[in-house]
Amino acid sequence: MTAQKAQYAKLKPELDQAFSTMMASMELQDGPQVKSLARALEDYLQVAHALPCAHGTDALLLALAALDLPAGGEVILPAFCDRFVAEAVAASGLQPMFADVLPDTFTIDPVAVSSLVTPGTVAVIAVHLFGQCADLAELLQLAKRHQFYVIEDSAQSFGASYTMPDNTTYRAGALADIAITSFYPPKPLAGMDDGGAVLTNQPAWARKAEELLRKGGPNNSQTGALSRPAPIAALDAALLEVKIKYISDYKQARQQVAAVYDQLFEKCGLCQVPVRNSRSTHIFQQYVLKVPGHLRDALQQHLQQHYIPSTVYYPQPLHLQNEFQLSYQYKKGDLPVAEEVAASVLSLPMHTELTEEQQGYIAYHTISFLQEHG
Ligand SMILES: *Cc1c(COP(=O)(O)O)cnc(C)c1O
Repeated sequence: MTAQKAQYAKLKPELDQAFSTMMASMELQDGPQVKSLARALEDYLQVAHALPCAHGTDALLLALAALDLPAGGEVILPAFCDRFVAEAVAASGLQPMFADVLPDTFTIDPVAVSSLVTPGTVAVIAVHLFGQCADLAELLQLAKRHQFYVIEDSAQSFGASYTMPDNTTYRAGALADIAITSFYPPKPLAGMDDGGAVLTNQPAWARKAEELLRKGGPNNSQTGALSRPAPIAALDAALLEVKIKYISDYKQARQQVAAVYDQLFEKCGLCQVPVRNSRSTHIFQQYVLKVPGHLRDALQQHLQQHYIPSTVYYPQPLHLQNEFQLSYQYKKGDLPVAEEVAASVLSLPMHTELTEEQQGYIAYHTISFLQEHG
């Protein structure tokens, strides 16, 4: 049984109830489930306004449009993250500027950001990667000094929290000017097929994003390969509202799995276990090992031969992907840390139903391969 099926089985009674209420109402588009999901998100994240929509990418298009940024404005984002982030920026008529990342947490490097700031900088996107937050305190400080916006992308870190230097703690997505999240199935809070949300404390931006969503997205956007922003389906909204109550159970289960992995890999000299950002909690959306770059692909193949699925997020940093490399003239070596990280990360199986026995098997095959070839 897959992890998703197991999760579903546990929630079935509550979901049956939610779905039959939905079917009885027959408002399958903009029905009460969508509003009620918005309230649940606002409550959980402690953010004033949540606007559910069909995809995380839609949410990013809406957030960028709500901020009303000048055409051609420079938006700084990490070179090591999901390509949709850069595509949404470019489709909004803005210029993506790729920043290098930190070698240990893989999130955007505030020092690299500060070196990219120009009078044309309009925003930075803090992507909270693999389950923990980027260095928000440093990014917010830079933004204040240079007068640009901070946009949080909490698609992979829904439920993580971040403690500011003054000891106030916020959920990922509730701290910066505006934020987005995604409910696409591999994300921490996952719907049936799709979903996302815009999050903000600013009523004017929330209103603008909602108006734009009703109109099917910003007028001027050349969304290109991206679809136009659309509303979330009532079915997904109903499902997510049930699941949000169990977010901390899922989070704890994954943290336990991570702790077991940490222990198993303690004596493996050739791999680095996930480094925690001291200001953030880590919800382990992924458990990402860093291994010697020249062994990574062979290790993945070796694991595959032993029926262990692993994934490489992301094999190619954004600045070296064709469309961005050609448009903005980046070349190999420009962002050395992102390039090194992209070559040496491997995400191991991570879900709430993983057993210690399975983890032992995974660690055994990983460590023995590295020791033999390292
Ligand atoms: C998945 C993801 C997105 C896009 O979300 P979709 O719902 O797939 O459109 C954006 N940013 C990050 C960091 C993601 O992981």
